[in-house]
Amino acid sequence: MSTIQVLKPKFHIDECLAQIRECLEKGWTGSGFKTAEFEQKWKEYTGHPHACYLNSNTSGLHLAVNILKRRYGWQDGDEIITTPVTFVSTNHAILYENMKPVFADVDQYLCLDPVDVEKKITGKTRAVIFVGYGGRVGQLDKVLEICKNHGLHLILDAAHMSGTRVNGVTPGTWEGVDVAVYSYQAVKNLPTGDSGMICFADGELDAQCRKVSWMGINKDTYARTSSEGTYKWNYGVDYVGYKYNGNAIMAAIALAQLPYLDEENARRRQIVKMYDEGFSKNPKIQIIPAPHPEECSFHIYELVVPDREALLSELAKNDIYGGVHYRDNTEFSMYTYAQGTCPHAHEVTQHIITMPLHLYLTDEDVQKIIRIVNDFVK
Ligand SMILES: *Cc1c(COP(=O)(O)O)cnc(C)c1O
Repeated sequence: MSTIQVLKPKFHIDECLAQIRECLEKGWTGSGFKTAEFEQKWKEYTGHPHACYLNSNTSGLHLAVNILKRRYGWQDGDEIITTPVTFVSTNHAILYENMKPVFADVDQYLCLDPVDVEKKITGKTRAVIFVGYGGRVGQLDKVLEICKNHGLHLILDAAHMSGTRVNGVTPGTWEGVDVAVYSYQAVKNLPTGDSGMICFADGELDAQCRKVSWMGINKDTYARTSSEGTYKWNYGVDYVGYKYNGNAIMAAIALAQLPYLDEENARRRQIVKMYDEGFSKNPKIQIIPAPHPEECSFHIYELVVPDREALLSELAKNDIYGGVHYRDNTEFSMYTYAQGTCPHAHEVTQHIITMPLHLYLTDEDVQKIIRIVNDFVK
């Protein structure tokens, strides 16, 4: 009996090694070279006009808040509306900039509920961070409409959304999205080791981000080395920036993985379809729907069950491992001030279980998991 993990990245090892070899032979593993090539490929793949490669999505979310705060003159204590059903990076990014996360509840897709978003707007609200939960676009269109009507900015945490489209278009490129941030962390749909991409709609903010993400320096090392063959030592420092830049080794892996992303997401959708069919007739189990499921990246697959702990143990007995994405963030000490403000999120996060979803699952594995779950939850 072989172990079935909840998430498991698939690396195209020979292609990854060939890409990494190029870096090592060239003697260039830092920013530039492969990072520039991957930025270009990502722009072509998504349709984003700008893309800046970073060491993580977490860094990107921080930069998104940092750069928009500077650009629009937001003050310490100003508010950003966000979700409690996310990895804590989303919300820490707001605290890094001394702003206040105001939590809005989630809808049936476990994405921000536009009705509650509108209720949470105050005179201090400056922006909304929308998380595309599990790759779902949720009701992003309605949230964008609200932002437009209230003069708010929108940051898209697209950590799960690599490859998600709606009618062929990447939602992060929709009008009104100020910036979209992707993750290529070790188990995301496009896995590297750790890295991310920040895609501003505005070219000036992208240019600024390139400096702020590399200590505030106004020229990158690769350009200084390669432009005239000699290392140009003379650079300025425009901001108290951060060491958030991505490196060529991670970009090399990303370049090797990207050509497979669409077919891999298609396989994820097949598995999701099998799960949905397998669980939809069980009255004790609730599945999380997705708008536009035929174009969703489906990073994770959740069920809502009466007793999550019991099901996790039952699965473990069969060497199958589930997970939980996520705990209600208002349970964490720095966010407890918001407890009770998002009742649906609180309720549903007591009952969600993440089922195995990755590219090493066979159809037989999926049928076996469905059988075990349906036999146990009844
Ligand atoms: C993974 C994840 C992040 C953080 O991404 P890193 O690249 O690991 O920093 C942020 N938000 C969500 C929703 C995530 O799943």
